[in-house]
Amino acid sequence: MRWSGQLISGNTDPTEEDNSPGRTQPVQVGLFAASDTVVRTFDTPGFRGAMFYEVRAKSVLNKVPGESPMFGWTINPYRGCGHRCVYCFARKTHTYLDFDAGLDFDTRIVVKVNAPEVLRRELARPSWQQEHVAMGTNVDCYQRAEGWYQLMPGIIEALARSGTPFSILTKGTLMLRDLPLLQAAAQDVSVGLAMSVGSIDESVWRTVEAGTPSPARRLDAVRTLADAGLGCSVLMAPILPFLTDSPEQLRATVAAIAEAGARSVTPIVLHLRSGAREWYYEWLQATYPSLVPRYRALYRNGSYAPSWYQDRITSAVREFAKAYGLNRPKPAGEEQPPTFRKAGGKPPARAVESQPALWDDDELSPS
Ligand code: SF4
Repeated sequence: MRWSGQLISGNTDPTEEDNSPGRTQPVQVGLFAASDTVVRTFDTPGFRGAMFYEVRAKSVLNKVPGESPMFGWTINPYRGCGHRCVYCFARKTHTYLDFDAGLDFDTRIVVKVNAPEVLRRELARPSWQQEHVAMGTNVDCYQRAEGWYQLMPGIIEALARSGTPFSILTKGTLMLRDLPLLQAAAQDVSVGLAMSVGSIDESVWRTVEAGTPSPARRLDAVRTLADAGLGCSVLMAPILPFLTDSPEQLRATVAAIAEAGARSVTPIVLHLRSGAREWYYEWLQATYPSLVPRYRALYRNGSYAPSWYQDRITSAVREFAKAYGLNRPKPAGEEQPPTFRKAGGKPPARAVESQPALWDDDELSPS
């Protein structure tokens, strides 16, 4: 799916006076030059250097192709992500917008400003079957921009009112802003929440996920969600070879996840597909140059670490999870959140590894 067909022309007047914070101007960049996109900048520290491309989308409900995709439907109100994770493999999708996968992905954020209203319309169609909808599968729906644009409340309300079960994967503690809405939604539909925390090592976090809330804050959010009666799983992803994969680090991270009251933990080892790979190696060379040869050797066969390595990590996390009381079978009637399950029941790490047909608008990102 290419974006050029998803933009509406003629609904936004970029020349009209805008009294809200930030500045607007018509866009003359690549794909967006042909649409009525407006670009906004902010002078606040958190947004300095970033540009927000405000587009009006024709559709926000994406059907994931393939015979047995991990998710049937997804919603991605943003493209690009200010969380700036070096390894993010959604980076490549930014090139479909005529942006680059590096700095542009971090700082040129596309915002579907009409996402809630378009979604309400799509969910009202008689043909809608209330299938599960996953969010956070491409970029993070609770990235910093959401603090300003506030698209998620309208999306959550629309899904809940239409009887549509949904799940959210995020690194954003901003999700707590919508806690009352999520609690209300969970009264009507199945709500699966997951926080991504690859490691609690703060020295690694500061350089590799520079725009995200700290792992400790993310785990605090897990605790808050658990205390509020909304179970939250943790996607322990990505586990970075030679940086966050020692037995001591894995044990400490799993212990912290258990301590936070997570309902489960799912490990995923770093994968380096085109788009993320170049960016990651550049960062590695600058930050941990001695590790470059080891990475080249481990990933010599492609985007994924070899099976023996993945098995070793998965087994270790599984053992630690057992020791700390995580991943116990749920009582009858209590469903696992559907966020990372794939029909057919493959183990999560392998399910991601074997996912064959990820499309260009909705790849699973370790958000
Ligand atoms: S991994 Fe997730 S949080 Fe990090 S940049 Fe990518 S989409 Fe954003």
